Amino acid sequence: MITNTTQEIAERARRIKASPTLALSARANELQAAGNSIINLTIGEPDFDTPSHIKEAAIKAIYDGQTKYTAVDGTTGLKKAVVDKFLRENRLKYELNQILVSCGAKHSLYNLFSVVLNAGDEVIIPAPYWVSYPDMVMLTDGKPVFIEAGLDQHFKITALQLEAAIHSKTRMIVLNSPSNPSGMAYSAKELKALAEVIMRHPHIIVVSDDIYEHHLWNHAPFTSILNVCPELADRALLVNSTSKTYAMTGWRIGYAAGPAYLISAMKNVQSQNTSSPTTVSQFAAQAALEGNQDCVGIMTKAYKERHDFVVGELQNMPGIACLPSDGTFYTLPSVKELLNKKKGVTNDFEFAEWLLQQTGIATVPGSAFGAPGHIRICYTTSMQNLTEAMKRLHQVVAEF
Ligand code: PMP
Ligand code: GLU
Repeated sequence: MITNTTQEIAERARRIKASPTLALSARANELQAAGNSIINLTIGEPDFDTPSHIKEAAIKAIYDGQTKYTAVDGTTGLKKAVVDKFLRENRLKYELNQILVSCGAKHSLYNLFSVVLNAGDEVIIPAPYWVSYPDMVMLTDGKPVFIEAGLDQHFKITALQLEAAIHSKTRMIVLNSPSNPSGMAYSAKELKALAEVIMRHPHIIVVSDDIYEHHLWNHAPFTSILNVCPELADRALLVNSTSKTYAMTGWRIGYAAGPAYLISAMKNVQSQNTSSPTTVSQFAAQAALEGNQDCVGIMTKAYKERHDFVVGELQNMPGIACLPSDGTFYTLPSVKELLNKKKGVTNDFEFAEWLLQQTGIATVPGSAFGAPGHIRICYTTSMQNLTEAMKRLHQVVAEF
């Protein structure tokens, strides 16, 4: 008998929680709609609009009647644009059967975990990590294993730490550089050291989530793990997306490149869950990848200016420790010294809540990313909003 209780939900679904970034952003928007003066620094979503030439390609596609399903793995036009992108920007050569277009990088990752993991297989996830990796691994019966990399090591794991974490149950490692939430990027040398460890363990697949590759100012130009270690090509899966690069989060187009056997298995899964990604969005994504790339540089320049302002301000606040980011649009300051100084503010969850109540500044507690004692600030908002946010923050931090 169905009793409509949580117990009726499959055990697999009960392992996970809703994405905290999406949930907190929704809460900030609700508070704003209710008339509160909220500055939403929660969600990692470009505030820029999608460039016009991309929108025009989508409008044209609609009028051209491109309103049916496409091939499950994406249109040939878009897959060719992805192959060209890898050659042009990353000096990596792929064939069409090594590319799978999906409904966002999130979908690419989910497809990947579904086809690789058997129950209990371990996935190494360096912490701090993007919120969704552990939950996606758990949803697909795997077990996340974290390697801690604190502020003292610039939030980056070392080759020694990686070697120590690997054993017979390890099936995958997930790398994300530049990183959400820390903003840090591995140098080519650091990446090579990690690749050398992975080379010694042939049973491991490496996932490289490169969706912030263009939002990079240190260690630029971007280096892929396959640039420093081409020998990993038969067990490296690169994940990318148009979401952040071209301010196209709502269009939901991401893609994966890797060995044909993996891509083909992921395509089978996709054929059973979403069929093809949205047709109109695929035409927009093709225009994005093939069109003028100036928009990418313009957005990155703006993120860097905002970064310099925000990080400069945070570094001047007593009790806050903040490293400059190498790229992305995130910073992950430590607020550890401010904890236990005010009643009810004993951890980063309480700190973020207190901040929201006192100042209207919405952030995400670091614990959501495996970084307790920190908060994530996303600077995808205007300089005017950021100036106001930093002014409010200065005022309350001075009270401590
Ligand atoms: N990876 C990382 C590190 C992210 O920050 C995000 C943000 N949404 C994604 C993957 C998923 O991106 P999307 O599904 O919008 O392509
Ligand atoms: N990746 C973004 C973030 O971290 C978008 C939200 C999400 O997909 O979780 O805020």
